[in-house]
Amino acid sequence: MTPDVLSAGPQELEALLEEAGQPRFRGRQLFRALWREGVADYAAVTVWPKALRTAMAQRAPWGRARCLAEQRSPDGTVKWLLAFPDGARVETVLLPHDYGYSLCVSSQVGCAMGCTFCASGLSGRLRNLTAGEMLEQVRFANTYLAEADPGARVSRVDLMGSGEPLDNYTATVRFLRLAHEPEGLGLSYRHMTVSTSGLAPRIRRLADEGLPVTLAVSLHAADDELRTRLMPVNQAYPLEAVMEAAAYYWRRTRRRVTFEYLLLRGLNDTPAQARQLVALLRPLDGGAHVNLIPWNPVPELPWQASTPAAAARFLDLVQAGGISCTIRKEFGRDIDAACGQLRRREEGMRDSQGLWVIPPRPGPG
Ligand code: SF4
Repeated sequence: MTPDVLSAGPQELEALLEEAGQPRFRGRQLFRALWREGVADYAAVTVWPKALRTAMAQRAPWGRARCLAEQRSPDGTVKWLLAFPDGARVETVLLPHDYGYSLCVSSQVGCAMGCTFCASGLSGRLRNLTAGEMLEQVRFANTYLAEADPGARVSRVDLMGSGEPLDNYTATVRFLRLAHEPEGLGLSYRHMTVSTSGLAPRIRRLADEGLPVTLAVSLHAADDELRTRLMPVNQAYPLEAVMEAAAYYWRRTRRRVTFEYLLLRGLNDTPAQARQLVALLRPLDGGAHVNLIPWNPVPELPWQASTPAAAARFLDLVQAGGISCTIRKEFGRDIDAACGQLRRREEGMRDSQGLWVIPPRPGPG
């Protein structure tokens, strides 16, 4: 079987090179070339003799993701539709911040969770991504930055693109560990976020991994009835189970848990719901932070964004309840920035051999 080189760690690559009759250090050289240097193919691993490059290209081939489409927003957000060698497509979004760049990484092609507000869930889950395919998204963004902003690299990754990362648990944890490797991308665990729809048993398992990553739980409602309407997964793991798992994560890692809350006009943004949210999170005793997210309209879906006044009132009430709370800055509203939107728009278009630059969608809604 062909080894999955892009999902291998330095020691596994050492073993691979040893099997090929090479000194083990050649494996580390390959890992560094793959992720620190971001080489395009074996031919570019110039620390190796040419004969070894040729031999390994036959023995253990791998292929980079290619870009099918790119959208750039005036606010600096860049979104790519990437295709892997088997044709599977995912979206990756680069976001500029004061501190540098974060990348919103996809963990699955599509998603099985079926959240009613999400474009990624509309076609279901097509397949899991490998750890290497998640790393590829970061490598791609770093390659882009090398030209767009020389010296800059992705310094934070958020597993918040398409897919439920904890539904692809093994590959997700492997990705986190490999992204942290100092000879590769060298990302701090503290600068990685795993976003989940609330798979309670997997949250506990992640807490036990000993990785100080941030956990973000998509909450979006503070009562089971509304949450089940918005997120069918709430039937399997209702709020009580999710909150217990989140509290376990907080106790075990001492990493404050972020609760994502999409603000949907007239649906979950009333004062009563803000107070309900406070009551739900208070038992975490300082271990909760609420991230209010302005709704980014998806053409196929009926929801509307909260008014600025309703959003401000909701924020005030949660803060007044003693819960840390902020409103997320809106990024890329003009470029289909909600997860899954670009892939779905592209699905009706024919594939291209090169880069497609798509004009911005005209206004929200
Ligand atoms: S919001 Fe996340 S978990 Fe829910 S369907 Fe979309 S990608 Fe899946």
